[in-house]
Amino acid sequence: MRKLCYFVQTVPNTEENASHSATGLEHYRRVLEKKIEEVRAGLSARRASEVVLRLDEPLDFGDWCQKSHDEWLFMNQNRLELALLRNLEAALVRLASGAYGTCQSCHRAICEKRLEAVPWAEFCVRCEEQAASAAAGEA
Ligand SMILES: [Zn+2]
Repeated sequence: MRKLCYFVQTVPNTEENASHSATGLEHYRRVLEKKIEEVRAGLSARRASEVVLRLDEPLDFGDWCQKSHDEWLFMNQNRLELALLRNLEAALVRLASGAYGTCQSCHRAICEKRLEAVPWAEFCVRCEEQAASAAAGEA
């Protein structure tokens, strides 16, 4: 009974949340956790290959250039994946707080199709497009 009260408190039954059932949220939680595992596995595999690269010595100047270029690539890829990891973890936090599936800008429900494609989506398609066109305008 105590558990049920907790659930009602953390997931307010507003119209915004009505379209995302408890089973639907459980589904997205599994999707998010699986994705986090995948990204983490990819990151540690890449770290391992970086260590292997460092053991390759001695290096002449040309090798150093290639090496630093490779490291730059690794860092860039890691940065994208670390950003994705942060997004995924933020989505899990929203899931726990009951904000998941609700646009953080206009507070409308994010449609299921979008959540299936981008389970960590923070904004609805409309707000995302508005932000994108605003960013494009500034650039
Ligand atoms: Zn929105």
